[in-house]
Amino acid sequence: MIMSELERVTEQENETIKQGKCPDCGGELYITARGGLALNVACDCGAKFWVAYPFTAERIAKGVNYAKAD
Ligand SMILES: [Zn+2]
Repeated sequence: MIMSELERVTEQENETIKQGKCPDCGGELYITARGGLALNVACDCGAKFWVAYPFTAERIAKGVNYAKAD
C-alpha cells in the first residue's frame, strides 16, 4: 500500500464509515487487516478504506457505485 495514493474522504463519507457502513453503496464494511491503531476495511462493492484511531479515514479503492454517490 502506497500512502500517497490514498485520498481523504469527505465529512459525510467519514461519518458513514464511522458507523460501519459503506459510503458508496450503504453496505456493511468488514475489517480486512489490522495493524496497530489502524484498520483496513472493505465492502463487497469493491470500496476499501484505511481507518486509524481516533478516526481518520482515507480511501484506498472506490466501490462500483462510487460514480452514483452524488
Ligand atoms: Zn459498498
